[in-house]
Amino acid sequence: MRILVVEDEKKVASFIKRGLEEESFTVDVAYDGEEGRYMAETNQYDLILMDVMLPKKDGLTVVRELREKGIAVPVLCLTAKDTVDDIVSGLDSGSDDYLTKPFAFAELLARVRALLRRGTQDRGAEINFADLRLDPVAHKVWRGNKEIDLTAKEYALLEYFMRNANQTLTRTMIAEHVWDYTFDSFTNIIDVYVNYLRKKIDKDFDKKLIHTVRGAGYVLKEE
Ligand code: CA
Repeated sequence: MRILVVEDEKKVASFIKRGLEEESFTVDVAYDGEEGRYMAETNQYDLILMDVMLPKKDGLTVVRELREKGIAVPVLCLTAKDTVDDIVSGLDSGSDDYLTKPFAFAELLARVRALLRRGTQDRGAEINFADLRLDPVAHKVWRGNKEIDLTAKEYALLEYFMRNANQTLTRTMIAEHVWDYTFDSFTNIIDVYVNYLRKKIDKDFDKKLIHTVRGAGYVLKEE
């Protein structure tokens, strides 16, 4: 899967590129609207991540021009604003979805996967582990018949655990996959969130699924 990132803030662009590459996507970056439009017209992409505020030509104009040329690639807009007017004009321009900055990488990735899934056979593929069930499109989680209400971060953490069940995940691995570029590795935030998650998916159930691996990290497994 090949993704074009159009983003003039170099730090944000390289953070997105690196994160997507870790998830085995191929990523090209354009730093202004004209370059972005040129690359979108001359290459085949599976998805475009389009910043709205760009030098030379704004992102919504670029999307509109691509649509007028019949280029139907899914577009996820990145916007600094989330007023209703901006969202409406973004969707009017032909974008498929939008994400407000600042965002956690896990959230970006979830949106990317959802948009890509629309065009693939993988649509709605659920992830199951023990009696846990996760719907990556609807972002819903059940344990047995009970739906579990999770925050975005808890959800991202659980999805990462479920995609890597029975493997010890170090705090570094968790930080790289679930946290964003503002992550401060000197805090205990990962332990805090793992405990939040345990309260929701393990506390009321006899069989515990999230286990601490002393000196290493955590693992999702059955006893
Ligand atoms: Ca920008």
